[in-house]
Amino acid sequence: MARAIAGGPAASCCSSGVEVELPPEDDAWVEGRALVASVEDVELLDPNASAEQLLYRLFHQRGVRVFRSRDLHAQCSCSRERVERMLRSFSQDDRDHMVENGKITVTCEFCNSTYRFEPLDVREPTPSS
Ligand SMILES: [Zn+2]
Repeated sequence: MARAIAGGPAASCCSSGVEVELPPEDDAWVEGRALVASVEDVELLDPNASAEQLLYRLFHQRGVRVFRSRDLHAQCSCSRERVERMLRSFSQDDRDHMVENGKITVTCEFCNSTYRFEPLDVREPTPSS
């Protein structure tokens, strides 16, 4: 088991031979990663140990707060209208370079949705006078 000692000597060693070097105590991110790395598989599989107990074991010296859980679901804020607005913000020259096989195709890197446009549908609006 790797063991990190915050605020202790620069390096610590334990029975597994894993050595963890910690920078000064105020580097909470590095310390947190080292503490999480110290979790053993049996701790994660123990039906008698809750996630809250594990968090307390790891972070009680720093203070730990558990927020109410929320259900997660995949959701992307992209839409055809947003992509169209984004395309209109480019110069005509840039849009001309985006045309492949007569269409402009945009794939959202977050949700992988694909939007296809006719080049004429995303040209800049004609200024009205
Ligand atoms: Zn998307």
